Amino acid sequence: MRSFIGTWLRPPAVLKDDNEIRIAQTLNAILLISLGGAIVYILFILALARSEAISLLFSTLPILFILGLRYLLNKISVYVVSMLFVACAWLNLTLAAAADGYGIRGTSLYGYILIVVVAGLLISWRASVAFALLNIFTGLLLIYATDTEILPNRVVLQTDFTIWSANAVFSVSAAFVLAIALKSLENASRRAALSESYYRMLFEAAPNGICIVDSDNRITMANEALYQMTGFSPADVIGRSALDFVDPQDLVRRPPRSFDQFMVNGPLKRERVLVRKDGLRLDVIISSSYMPDGHLQYILQDITERKRIEEALRVSEEKFSKSFQASPDAVTLSSLKSGKFIDVNEGFIKMSGYSREEALGRSAEELKIWGDIHQRQRMVELLQTKGRVRDFETTLVRKTGEAISCLLAVETVEIGGETCMVVVTRDLSRQKRIERERESLIRDLEAKNAELEQFTYTVSHDLKAPLITIKGFLGLLSNDALSGNRKRLEEDIQRIGEAADKMHILLNNLLELSRIGRMMNIPEPVAFADLVLEARAILQGRFQQSKVELRVEEHLPVVQGDRQRLLEVVQNLIDNAAKFMGDQSHPLIEIGQVSRPDSSERMATFFVRDNGIGIAPEFHERIFGLFNRLDPRIEGTGVGLALVRRVVEYYGGKIWVESEVGQGSTFFFTLPLAPVDKSPAAG
Ligand code: ADP
Repeated sequence: MRSFIGTWLRPPAVLKDDNEIRIAQTLNAILLISLGGAIVYILFILALARSEAISLLFSTLPILFILGLRYLLNKISVYVVSMLFVACAWLNLTLAAAADGYGIRGTSLYGYILIVVVAGLLISWRASVAFALLNIFTGLLLIYATDTEILPNRVVLQTDFTIWSANAVFSVSAAFVLAIALKSLENASRRAALSESYYRMLFEAAPNGICIVDSDNRITMANEALYQMTGFSPADVIGRSALDFVDPQDLVRRPPRSFDQFMVNGPLKRERVLVRKDGLRLDVIISSSYMPDGHLQYILQDITERKRIEEALRVSEEKFSKSFQASPDAVTLSSLKSGKFIDVNEGFIKMSGYSREEALGRSAEELKIWGDIHQRQRMVELLQTKGRVRDFETTLVRKTGEAISCLLAVETVEIGGETCMVVVTRDLSRQKRIERERESLIRDLEAKNAELEQFTYTVSHDLKAPLITIKGFLGLLSNDALSGNRKRLEEDIQRIGEAADKMHILLNNLLELSRIGRMMNIPEPVAFADLVLEARAILQGRFQQSKVELRVEEHLPVVQGDRQRLLEVVQNLIDNAAKFMGDQSHPLIEIGQVSRPDSSERMATFFVRDNGIGIAPEFHERIFGLFNRLDPRIEGTGVGLALVRRVVEYYGGKIWVESEVGQGSTFFFTLPLAPVDKSPAAG
């Protein structure tokens, strides 16, 4: 019973909006009042008035209607139930007045006023007016019906009590309905005041700037945040057009929307550039919404800082991506865990030989880039302990299989919760090659310096000897001239001449040596056999004197070089071979080639072999030095082999000797072959 009453007292649960709730509550209360009213009326009729079946019928029927409508209130729309209620109540009152035969004087018609009020409360003021008109019209109809005796002949006896009870019930009901109406009005205005204060609070405390504009876009209200944001005071803002605060250039770029567009399109969001009071630009997002009173509300979100950060991010991203791509070093971004490449730059593509597509999504391990995979583990361990890696030298392997020595620098970066590695790889092979070349140049320079020191020393020493001879014999010369010793005088002059000749030869050889490298002619193909023949012709005298036999191998190749310098090489070696024969009874010199090079080889190795006095192994290197001679009794300057070595090395060749004392000597040397198409027909 309690729950039944509770259900009755409670309005329906599922309702859409405030208005619906208000109507439901009001309707619920009116149904209760009507139920109470109907019950009281029945009791009145039964107790105080003379009961009539027709009166009881029209008093009982509403109870059934009310129960039915209360049931429907939980099932169908509140508005439909409201309309049904008003319509049924009106019909009940009208039919009761007609049925009891009193027509316009029927006591039920007191309820008409109540119907008008309830229609206004539950439906709308229009419904209230409609029912008022309907009442007027029905009243006229009832008068007409009474006059034309359409109505039955007063079937109900209307006593003073009947009239009083109808009056009392309708008056009390009217008082209740009025109380409900006033209560609902009071609630509504309290709610309105509450929501107004909420809005005020939000408006003032909102971190975003808010302003309200009228249909001419004039600002009627603005909050504190807006003043803070723009630097303007209320006096600067209220009454001014909102567009006065927009950057003129921005207005050209993004023309303002018309008021109607806001009405049609609903809330809109757009970016705008405003001008602050201090002249600075302010980037904002404005959310505009149309308000029920025809005003517009603008909510301004300051995005200047966000834009600055976005711009700084864009610049930093551009800087990073440009230096990433432009770096001559290989730069890669890969997952620390899987090692898979996420990004690689141009430098990597050049250095490794892999394309972007080949590299992305695969690891250096899969591509076999690490020369030694343990090195990668070592690098990762270093990275994990120190947080970064610097100057990590290792060998990496290109796609072609070529190994290159590299220097690595590694950093970690967190991307989407995953630890990644940025690896910068520098190719050291070029640097290493340059270092090697530099070291070799330094060695050469040191050797040349040592040679130069030796040269200066020897030149001064060797030139001094003939000079002392000349000076000594000049002293003797004057003595012999005075004493008139003609024979000794001639001997003195001859010695002086010989010393001068020696100096001449020495100086000539030195001059020759100094010219190598500077005075080379353009290389030409020269048949090696021709060089031998020419040298032999020049050395004719020595050959006849020492009866040396010269054997020259056939089919010697064509070499490439300065003919004159190559002749000096061959001539010096043959001359030395003949000169250092010792007391050999069958002096023999052999000239040939070590092995025939195939067409792919660029250099040929020749030899000049003699069966002379030979050279002890400890002197095999020294004899190529300037002025180094092993036996001062044998004529010579010690320049020949130095000159030979320089010419051979100038053409990229090598020279060495194989010899033992008393076993003869073999001088080997290499020279560049003439290109095949340029070779003259070898004789
Ligand atoms: P030079 O012949 O003017 O002495 P070189 O530079 O041609 O000077 O030779 C340097 C030294 O090497 C010679 O003095 C000699 O002692 C030694 N030498 C050169 N060729 C031979 C050879 N075929 N047999 C033995 N000793 C040689």
